Amino acid sequence: MIPFLDLKAQYATIGKDIEAAALRVLRSGRYVLGDEVTALEEAFAAYCGVKHAIAVNTGTSALHLALLAAGVGKGDEVITTPFTFIATAAAIRYIGARPVFVDIDPETFNIDPERIEEAITPRTRAIVPVHLYGQMAEMDAILSIARKHDLAVVEDACQAHGAQYDGHMAGSMGLSGCFSFYPGKNLGACGEGGMVVTSSDEQAQKIRMLRDWGQDRRYHHIVEGYNYRMDAVQGAVLAVKLGQLESWIEARRTRARLYGRVLAGSGLGVPLEADGRRHVWHIFAVRTQDREQLQKMLAREGVETGLHYPVPVHLQPAFADLKLGRGSFPMAEAAADSVLSLPLYPEMDLQSVEIVGALLQQDEFAA
Ligand SMILES: *Cc1c(COP(=O)(O)O)cnc(C)c1O
Repeated sequence: MIPFLDLKAQYATIGKDIEAAALRVLRSGRYVLGDEVTALEEAFAAYCGVKHAIAVNTGTSALHLALLAAGVGKGDEVITTPFTFIATAAAIRYIGARPVFVDIDPETFNIDPERIEEAITPRTRAIVPVHLYGQMAEMDAILSIARKHDLAVVEDACQAHGAQYDGHMAGSMGLSGCFSFYPGKNLGACGEGGMVVTSSDEQAQKIRMLRDWGQDRRYHHIVEGYNYRMDAVQGAVLAVKLGQLESWIEARRTRARLYGRVLAGSGLGVPLEADGRRHVWHIFAVRTQDREQLQKMLAREGVETGLHYPVPVHLQPAFADLKLGRGSFPMAEAAADSVLSLPLYPEMDLQSVEIVGALLQQDEFAA
């Protein structure tokens, strides 16, 4: 049996340190925000090469607050990709703003910068590029369009902790960057967690206030805020795990390179690392026209796979009111119909990668 992801294997390598950190919090009597969370914020800001990091309870909350702080309001439009996890578009809608989708570049699965300008209207306030699967979007082009049209850029880096674009860390290039620490992400809590990073003092101050009921002092509520605070246990656990992140990224990259070698000539579409980028391989998705057959064959052989994502956001029933039917974004729709995510995690043994590769080297599955 080769699992898609094995969080127990990761826990086995660092469980003692995590237990010590969690126990310290349990005995401290301080359970929400506090020193443990502040220490994580400082370490994560340093890791991302930004001035501020503000810890929150989920990646979705991070996006919601980053957009609010960027000045997005009711009736505004926000440009993003339809090929993402639902949370990206949901956060835009929490504000009463409208997600305006732009199709993807089929090579990288990320928003196609060449199609962004035609989607800009007088109501456009922001662009939310998603660094899908752990590879950063085409940030130079996106930032130059944003500058030209005076738009904020909020990076959805929820899948891209430690990814780089020309040496710049994910989250550090836009006005702000948002991260998720959901357990299955490359840096995962023992529960839920999220973070906004920014080098803007003004953004940081607003986001700090918004995550804790809009107060500047206790019971003095300056703006309408939220309860989006991070638990102290998660702060302590994540600080331990952050120390391992670089080695985990290297382990993912080693396994992704090996997949590339063992899948060469298989006829499958193998995902690539674009020039100048450091891909952190949250997801390793191949493309195939025989997905169902392939997934069934792998399941029979004991190999777990995933689909990220089988339905693009504009075709989700929850977004039917946008009236964007099939054919609206052909590249995203084709990706949703053909991607298959293979097992990949830092503790996965290399032999398992070779086994999956050998199973996929069967001519009948050529794309
Ligand atoms: C996971 C994820 C989110 C949401 O994060 P949560 O912590 O689950 O709220 C947002 N965007 C993308 C691209 C994600 O993968």
